Amino acid sequence: MPLTLYNTLTRRKEPFEPIEPSKVRMYVCGITAYNYFHVGNARAFVMFDVVRRYLMWRGYTVRYVQNFTDIDDKILKRALAENTTMGAIAEKYIAAYFEDADRLNILRANAYPRATHTIDGIQRLIHELEQRQYAYAADGDVYYAVRQFPDYGKLSGRKLEDMQAGASGRVDVDEDAGKKKDPADFALWKAAKPDEPFWESPWGNGRPGWHIECSAMVRDELGESIDIHAGGMDLTFPHHENEIAQSEAVTEKPLARYWLHNGFINMDGEKMSKSLGNFRLTRDLLTTYDPMAFRLFVLQAHYRKPIDFTADAMDAAANGWKTLKEALQFGTQFTGLPGWSSEVDALDQETIDRFNEAMDDDINTPIALSVVFELAKLLSREGHQLVHQDKPDLTIEHLQQQWQTFIKLIDVLGLTAQTAIEVATASDGLTDSKIEALIQQRQEARQSKNWAESDRIRNELQAQGITLIDQKDGVTRWHRN
Ligand SMILES: [Zn+2]
Repeated sequence: MPLTLYNTLTRRKEPFEPIEPSKVRMYVCGITAYNYFHVGNARAFVMFDVVRRYLMWRGYTVRYVQNFTDIDDKILKRALAENTTMGAIAEKYIAAYFEDADRLNILRANAYPRATHTIDGIQRLIHELEQRQYAYAADGDVYYAVRQFPDYGKLSGRKLEDMQAGASGRVDVDEDAGKKKDPADFALWKAAKPDEPFWESPWGNGRPGWHIECSAMVRDELGESIDIHAGGMDLTFPHHENEIAQSEAVTEKPLARYWLHNGFINMDGEKMSKSLGNFRLTRDLLTTYDPMAFRLFVLQAHYRKPIDFTADAMDAAANGWKTLKEALQFGTQFTGLPGWSSEVDALDQETIDRFNEAMDDDINTPIALSVVFELAKLLSREGHQLVHQDKPDLTIEHLQQQWQTFIKLIDVLGLTAQTAIEVATASDGLTDSKIEALIQQRQEARQSKNWAESDRIRNELQAQGITLIDQKDGVTRWHRN
């Protein structure tokens, strides 16, 4: 079965065929840099990271672009409140984005365009829209005339007639009503207000609207037509609908072949929203939970379904992660067994086929995870057998095959003990189990002759007042200074 993806545009699952064979161009809408990102954003970033990893696993070369919105009313408001500049606020939260995303083991994008670095591309696009009569200037603003674009609404399934006034965006609600020809029109360019940052333009000093930046960035970074455009479900309308209107009016080509949208995270049964005050920042969550537990929490549901965030659900995910980690920790013992050869790349094809079959079905991670948990349980059983009976039940070849399959598949899901252990160390106070885990990690590094990593862990422990003693029998003892 080929990979099939649910395409919001066609409202059905479709076989995935990229424009260029074996190459995928993928764009994911990123954060507006005025705060730490919340768990709803984190769900999208984790999910589309898994989509990317899976495409890579299936042999595609993926070019992945994610933007930073670094000019926006919310950023300006924050800058004003904190008596600083928009640039300083954006820098702070972009840096914070990388810290939190790295902890979640989200692969770095190939490019992170920013709105303020894309002004040329944005102005060019607006100019072309104007020439083609899709845009009109009004008092220093420029608006997109949605009635000019007959396909408007094709992504979200909304009809212009049903759209209410003020539904055109998150920033230009009522104040521009007088300038618009149609209430559904949305701003491409906004005239500068006193004391706000601005750029010169043919329409006067001003700054770009939100939607136009993504159209310009996709075009600059990936070209006129891309394979996958993704984001949270809340972006379908108006943001992605407007991106399509802007891009396709100019290029007359589909902006993206496949539109992927993930479902919401509900907080204790209620929608996460500002008015309810139940927003949960990822950074805060990670003070309590292992980042991999959160990853698991996300992957345990199908990405298009809503998930309920509750303490119980997070605890269950944390337990699940413990199971996987336990299996991972047996690795050191296995690799020391006679007859074990790290050179051999033996995989269990039958298990891999089951995993791929689940992922091919619109990235069904709950099923794919069940395959991974089966492997984890088998490896833990073998590990206990080894500890208590001195010998595993499986032959070395079979054990090695299961182990290597497990390592490969959890990596496709972006689950890694490495991150978990590093984060554990970063938090205050090292428990015995954290120290043991680090020593185990160092042991693995030494076995694969990764001396730099081995030294790094030793130094890291040293810095926290832990001394390691490598004994002749290969066992490492430790004590607190
Ligand atoms: Zn976007």
